[in-house]
Amino acid sequence: MGTGEWIACRSCDQLLHVPVLKTSERADCPTCGQVLSRGRPDSIQRTLALSLSAIILYGVTQSTTFMTFELQGRTQEAKIITGILELFADGKLPLASLILVTAVVAPFCWTAALLYASLPLTFKVVPPGIVSVLRWCQIAQDWSMLEVLMLAVIVTYVKLATLAHLGFGPGAMALIPLLLALTAAGDSFERAVFWRRLEQLRQ
Ligand SMILES: [Zn+2]
Repeated sequence: MGTGEWIACRSCDQLLHVPVLKTSERADCPTCGQVLSRGRPDSIQRTLALSLSAIILYGVTQSTTFMTFELQGRTQEAKIITGILELFADGKLPLASLILVTAVVAPFCWTAALLYASLPLTFKVVPPGIVSVLRWCQIAQDWSMLEVLMLAVIVTYVKLATLAHLGFGPGAMALIPLLLALTAAGDSFERAVFWRRLEQLRQ
């Protein structure tokens, strides 16, 4: 068993020494209460399984029909990207850009980063650029807000349900399991375990 490591609190920036935790133990920041580390020795394998599921569900959500609108005998199918491109075409640049980043780009970067880190480390291989990926994936996680898309779908449904017949495609069906897989992958991703594995492989 190692002696632990120094971790900077994400919330208050305090530098704290955290011992190596046993399974289901947790270390909190004594100043602000932010969770610093959790005892999850199987973090890499769990993150791999969940991020693999998430990337498949992401593919389904983005590439298949999300919603269908039927009005006076005419049916129109829409994917997430179709709606975003229409917003761009309507000149709603800030809104379109925000949805593009939070519902398409950031969730992909976050899932891909988890997969890029966990897959090779599971097989004891150090992938190139892993240090940068581990450092910068936090930004992708912060901007990944697929739940906003979920809210937008509910609002759209409530507003348009009386005007047109709305249906959900495979893309929308995959959204809830995707949200669950991404949340679980983020929860199982324990940075300290990844850094420790990296250190062991480099020795
Ligand atoms: Zn703190």
